[in-house]
Parts: sequence; C-alpha cells; structure tokens
Amino acid sequence: MEFNPFQRKFRKGEKRVALVYSNRYAGGVANIGLQQIYAEINEFAICERFYADVFDGLRSVETGTPLSEFDFALFSIQYENDCFKAVEILRKSNFKGIKIAGGPCVMENPRPLRRFFDAFFIGEVEGKLGEILSVKEAVELSGIEGIWTGREDRVKRVFSKIGKHLEKEIIAEGAYGRCFLIELGRGCVRKCSFCLVRQIYAPPRWRRVEDLPEVRDVGKVALIAPSPTDHPRFKEILQSFVERGLEVSPSSLRADALNEELVELLKAGNVKSITLAPETSSEKLSEILRKEISFEDLREAVEICAGKFEKLKLYYMVGIPGESIEDVRGIVEQAKELKSLIPRVEISVNPLVPKPHTPMQWFGFDKLEDLQKKINLLRVECVKAGIEFSQPNLREFVLQTIIARGDERAGDIFDGKSYRDFKYLLNPLDPEIELPWDFIDHHYKRDRLLREFEEIKSGLESRKESG
Ligand code: SF4
Repeated sequence: MEFNPFQRKFRKGEKRVALVYSNRYAGGVANIGLQQIYAEINEFAICERFYADVFDGLRSVETGTPLSEFDFALFSIQYENDCFKAVEILRKSNFKGIKIAGGPCVMENPRPLRRFFDAFFIGEVEGKLGEILSVKEAVELSGIEGIWTGREDRVKRVFSKIGKHLEKEIIAEGAYGRCFLIELGRGCVRKCSFCLVRQIYAPPRWRRVEDLPEVRDVGKVALIAPSPTDHPRFKEILQSFVERGLEVSPSSLRADALNEELVELLKAGNVKSITLAPETSSEKLSEILRKEISFEDLREAVEICAGKFEKLKLYYMVGIPGESIEDVRGIVEQAKELKSLIPRVEISVNPLVPKPHTPMQWFGFDKLEDLQKKINLLRVECVKAGIEFSQPNLREFVLQTIIARGDERAGDIFDGKSYRDFKYLLNPLDPEIELPWDFIDHHYKRDRLLREFEEIKSGLESRKESG
C-alpha cells in the first residue's frame, strides 16, 4: 500500500503529465530523482505515474487513466534495456501528446531512440519542468536549455546545486524496502575509468546536513548517492538516523571507507548483509579500472565486518581489457579467503560495457566465447567452493552495449531487427573518428578522456611485457 502525499484530484483544464518508468514499480518508486520530478510537477499540473509492471505501463497507478489521455509523457530511462519497454508502451498506448525522454541512458546517448520521441532532456530536469511543460507543441521545445530534439548540433548538460531535500515522499515497498529515500549527493569524487556516473553527474555535489529532512512516520531510511560513504559527514548522518531508532540502508559501500565505528552503526541500523565491489581480483587490472581498492582494503573491511553480518556480496567484472583467465580464477580465490571470515558469500559478475563518455569508450566489448568461458569457470569453481554465484545474461549485456554505442540506425533494434546486425558496435572504436554521442557536452574535455585512454593502453602494454 502506498502513502502518497502529492496526489491531487484532476480539475478540468489542468495539464496532465504522465511520468513513465519503463521498468518495475519497485525500482521506480525507489528512484529519488523521479520522486522529485513528481513532487515538482504536482505543484502546477497533474502528474501520474506509469510503471512497466503495473497495467503493462498503459494506465496510471493513481487513477488507472490511460496514457493516451495525457498531454505529456515524460519517460525516465535508467537502463539501456528499458528502451524496449519504453518503445512498446508508446506503441501500445497510441499516445498522441508530447513525448520527452530523460534519465541516465538518455544522457549517455539518445540517438538510437531519436525517432520515437519528440525531444530528449540532457541533465537534471528539476527547475526546468515549468518551462518544458508550458509548451503547446513539441516544436517549441527546441531552444530550451538541456533539450535535444535531434535538430541541434550540440547540447550542454544541465545540472544545478542541490539544496533543501524533499520533506515528504511517496512511501512504498520499493527496492530498499518501505523507507524514506534520502539523497546525500550527486556525482562521484572517484575516478573509476569504466564509470558513466562519474561523467554524467559531474561535478560531485553533497547535500548539506542542514538540508536533510525530518523523517517521520516511517521506520527506515535509504541513504542514496553514487558513493555515499564519501560524503564528508557520512558517519554523523548515519549516527543521527540510528540514534533516532531508524533502520538504514546505504545504496553502496566502499571497502576502504569501512571502520569499526561505521560497521557498528550499520549493524545498529539493522543492515543484514554487506555488499562491496572490488570489480577485479588483479592488482594490475584494478589500476586500469582506477577503482583504488586493493585486496588488502577488501580483506581488512571484511575482517571488521566478520561476525556482524549474515552475508557478504561481492561485485566483480569480467571482460576487462587485458584480463587473463588467471585473473578470473583469482575472483574465486579471493572469495574463498573472505569466506573464512563471513561464511555466506555471493559473487555477482557482470561483463564490462565500454560506456560512452568514459575513457573505456574506445575499447571493445569482450569476445562472447571468451566471456562465456570465464563465466562457466566461475560457476563451476563457485559451486565447488560453496559460494553463491549470480551470473549475467550475456545477451542483455550485448544489447546494452549496442544501445549505448549506436547511432540512429541502432533504433531498428526496437523495430524488430536482430542484434546480430549491430555486432559491429561491440568492436573497438577509432579515437580519430567522431562518435555518435560527441554532440553532448558533459563538461569534460575530450583530450582528458583520450589521455586516460592512452594511459590505460600503456598500462596494458607494460603488463604484457612483464608477462
Ligand atoms: S564506480 Fe562508484 S566509486 Fe567509482 S566513480 Fe563510479 S560511482 Fe564513483
């Protein structure tokens, strides 16, 4: 059952805005960005939500009103694979109003979706909604800051300072459980070479403690940021919620940030399992990924956590440029060692997607046969070692790479064309050639990206030479 403090009755003549999340309700309702957009629109128009698994995305959660009756459809596309459902919802709903897409997937590269929407918003839309939703026709959107209709040569990402947090929210059973979502910050101070978040939410911005909300009528808070433990006052924030008797759920934890005090607070906040993302077992590959977490950091963190949590979950990647089968085997070796500290261990492995706007963008996606071998090896070794293993669906990652790196032609994939026709998008890219997403200005210099790419390449060369 939802608690919704924003819902209002529709009055004749009011503008109707559909906020569409083309994935599951649990993820959508736990998205703090969508909560903010919803709250803001409801101040001057009627906004209702649509989720892929509620009425198949065709009727609103609030009143069951069909999408076709709305004036605007704002789609938030978080993951590349959600594009399929977004296109399906548009088709089945017969929506005739103004269609705009936004979200990280759009900020990364909207070109494959171009033919399906009137416009795309590149950036953080809060503060711009009044202007966008005041247009009478789609053609008027062109020229609004952050809008790309396909006709502009360039678009600059919009971002703003983060100020006072929402005081009220929809409270529902979402991805973090039934809780109040607290956004601690945007962007990330780290420099992981594979990470899109670092690039498309820059610069890192923290919410001031004074701007955090009073949380009432709910027993749990989710602390959300790309890397929440990097908040300069994270411990103090955590402590203040725990002292008020609230359960806590941080969106992620960094191994090198954990210490006795923090772990005690997490335990007191009823955190049951600990999730860490070493990404690779190899020191050399870790340098390439710039994750800056060593196995020492990881072991020390797990030592502190031992006996306090029921489960340890570890995220790794495979398909990292220069990776050997020994590096992959090393994942299980690390997990085995950590299992002696926390007996229940799960490994989750995903292939590296060379994402646009990152220094990895010029590398290719690993060969499918090699990835399959690596995953098979991990599965077998995990079973032998009594480690839980969560394996990726390789086809989904291939699609993700194609949609992330394609131009307008890749839109055919949503019209039923086989992904096999786009396998060329899995290949390495030529740094001399302009890329489909180069028209988006994410406030970084291409030269800096190129320099980081060259550094990674020379790191790989020296790895080869040292055998
Ligand atoms: S992977 Fe995590 S820590 Fe690294 S830059 Fe991205 S958000 Fe930050």
